[in-house]
Amino acid sequence: MDNKLTIYNTLSKKKEIFEPLNPPHVGMYVCGPTVYGDPHLGHARPAIAFDLVFRYLQHLDYKVRYVRNITDVGHLENDADEGEDKIAKKARLEELEPMEVVQYYTNSYHAAMQALNVLNPSIEPNASGHIIEQMTMIRKILKSGYAYESAGSIYFDVEKYNETNPYGILSGRKVEDLIATTRELDGQGEKKNSFDFALWKKAAPEHIMRWPSEWSDGFPGWHMECSAMGTRYLGEQFDIHGGGMDLLFPHHESEIAQSVAANGKMPVRYWMHNNMITINGQKMGKSLGNAVSLEEFFTGEHPLLTHAYSPMTIRFFIMQAHYRSTLDFSNEALQAAEKGYRRMMAAMEVLEKLEANGKPGESVKINWLKDKCYEAMNDDFNSPVLIAHLFDGVKTINSIKDGKLKIDKENLIALKELFMIFGNDILGLKSEGEAAGGQDDLSSKLIETLLDLRRESKLNKDFNTADKIRDQLTAMGVTLKDTKEGTEWSL
Ligand code: ZN
Repeated sequence: MDNKLTIYNTLSKKKEIFEPLNPPHVGMYVCGPTVYGDPHLGHARPAIAFDLVFRYLQHLDYKVRYVRNITDVGHLENDADEGEDKIAKKARLEELEPMEVVQYYTNSYHAAMQALNVLNPSIEPNASGHIIEQMTMIRKILKSGYAYESAGSIYFDVEKYNETNPYGILSGRKVEDLIATTRELDGQGEKKNSFDFALWKKAAPEHIMRWPSEWSDGFPGWHMECSAMGTRYLGEQFDIHGGGMDLLFPHHESEIAQSVAANGKMPVRYWMHNNMITINGQKMGKSLGNAVSLEEFFTGEHPLLTHAYSPMTIRFFIMQAHYRSTLDFSNEALQAAEKGYRRMMAAMEVLEKLEANGKPGESVKINWLKDKCYEAMNDDFNSPVLIAHLFDGVKTINSIKDGKLKIDKENLIALKELFMIFGNDILGLKSEGEAAGGQDDLSSKLIETLLDLRRESKLNKDFNTADKIRDQLTAMGVTLKDTKEGTEWSL
């Protein structure tokens, strides 16, 4: 294979050949979730996008240290350092300890990631477990003169930094423009400029999550954790930093400024950003009331959904778009993804049992298809093109099965290998039975049998038996949904 992996770098705004700082080692940091609510599609997309990157780099024999953090402190309701801490607010509303909220939603995030067949990162650090690292970095920034203290809080001095280092290098924003649009709003508050961001915030008396420091009893600013934990586990300079496009500004922009101010060098070689998910063409968000949780997809219990969609369908749906494209969710689009996923899985099952039916001279050739698959992945992880090539392979498999094409032993091995590498290992697809987490064939058949009995009872007007079957299945964790086409079930 002579073509090389290229990655679109948000920093240079072009595709670059991937050259790690210290091959075969690769350091990769991805901003993880703030754990204060049910995991939804917006969590699934970056997790799956960077799972693809992680899987492919490993396939290319890189030794990847993948760090994906859990934000459990310091992320305020408003990205501009205002409002209540998101986790503390949830804790107050639910009358829980903040760490109970963190544990609960970390567990549900992990369960959803496992269902989606997202590999665990190498390290999953919590912000609250790295207060000392964050304080150390804040001291370095203060020493270098790029931060100031105000009423017990420490703020990053953006204007001062911008005199010697361009602030806005990642997002393309200019400090002059920020000044022009925000100056008249200033004059109140503790900051010199409204776009200065907090490195440390003094905690208000009612604020629960607080740590002692020489500045005040307080807590670190949201951007600090990623700079501090990235440096701690991957060094002052590392290869890849990823996250959603919504984090580009101010979060990632501020991470760069913090690292340059503390360590005197640019922290990251390749910045990668996945695009957003829209729902029926609209921005998705809790506040907009159209966020669908992953649990709701898996059970089908949401007004926008006609039935339950398996985790593998969701994964396939997300992979069908390139990570830098927007992805519009609709029930129809999911139905199409479900069909596509099942068609590919059916072909992969056929392939497993396929036997060579031809001699070398008359055999279909597979190598060109393999080259095409690598070409797609090397082109900035182009999963939709990869999937299109695999569907060419699906056609080939079905034609061999129908006896319309011949394949010899060597090419059959290559075809099996191709689907194992690109279907299973890189796209991370697996059969639905496994995806449901141990929902084996026998229990599926037993449930179907009970549903047949229930349908017959209803036809015979024996509603007692019908209800009893439903209630007992529900008690065992089987959710039933009666539709025009019949009864659907999910675990
Ligand atoms: Zn981050």
